[in-house]
Amino acid sequence: MRVVVTGGAGFIGSHISGRLVRDGHEVVCLDNLITGRAENVAHLMGEQFQIVQYDITNFISVVGDVDAILHLASPASPIDYLRLPIQTLKVGALGTHKALGLARAKGAKFLLASTSEVYGDPLVHPQKEEYWGNVNPVGLRGVYDEAKRFAEAMTMAYRRIHGIDTRIARIFNTYGPRMRLDDGRVIPTFITSALRGEPLPIHGDGMQTRSFCYIDDMVEGIMRLLVSDYPEPVNLGNPEEYTILETAEKIKQLTGSKSEVEFRPLPSDDPARRRPDISTAREVLGWAPTVSLDEGLKATIEYIRKQI
Ligand code: NAD
Repeated sequence: MRVVVTGGAGFIGSHISGRLVRDGHEVVCLDNLITGRAENVAHLMGEQFQIVQYDITNFISVVGDVDAILHLASPASPIDYLRLPIQTLKVGALGTHKALGLARAKGAKFLLASTSEVYGDPLVHPQKEEYWGNVNPVGLRGVYDEAKRFAEAMTMAYRRIHGIDTRIARIFNTYGPRMRLDDGRVIPTFITSALRGEPLPIHGDGMQTRSFCYIDDMVEGIMRLLVSDYPEPVNLGNPEEYTILETAEKIKQLTGSKSEVEFRPLPSDDPARRRPDISTAREVLGWAPTVSLDEGLKATIEYIRKQI
């Protein structure tokens, strides 16, 4: 296949691009590097991989055939989308529209990287795809949640009106090598603090839960969804649930750090619980995560240790 990956120089996009190249496909990565880094894909450069620095909220033109579009472009970490609220709304709305336009022009399959944040602060637990969510449209985090909800609606409209072959992955917290140390997400923040001997910052009482999916499992899930013929949204994530406090303790133990935890105020609209119901992914894609939190953390710790 010849595949366009928007946001291909980001954390998930660079791993997906690597997988596509390894599987023998050709990748055209479109990325404005607003939160991604060219060094994430430097090792892929060559005949099968090219990066074009481009803001996909503008009209997208790609010369030649395109078989599939993986639309991953969007700031994803709260620190990024709170700093870049308008860019986040634009890439979710205009960027998705332009990427779908490219899919239509090329007759390509289209996969949207959506998010568990479409469920907002969920009133249903664990979250199934049928749940419509509990989002505050005017809250600070609403820029990301609503951008992705719009992106899903636009994807389905293009499917219904223009017959585009679409997929929607609702991605839950994913972690692994190539996350930025300063991107504010809990795992790189805790590991970096632990390795530097600094306090691990916990927002609130640390009893809020999260589920963490290792990047290799996520890439496998996205690839299976791409080649499936399932048009409805699919949750992809790891259903194992940990409190933030437990996560901090585990990271302290795996890094052998003597750092303490430090409690800080809880940001507004921070979801109290988050866990995917992945029965659809199990049934339709035969997919479930296989990498344990310990294994995934060890690989991520090694990466961050080298970065530091
Ligand atoms: P990331 O910030 O590392 O990657 C996003 C990439 O998109 C970056 O390389 C960035 O430069 C690029 N980008 C942003 N706006 C752009 C624009 N207008 N034009 C071109 N490129 C643009 O984030 P990530 O963690 O790799 O997330 C990738 C996708 O997966 C995002 O759509 C995100 O919403 C989704 N997602 C990620 C997670 C997670 O836990 N990492 C969870 C849910 C959903």
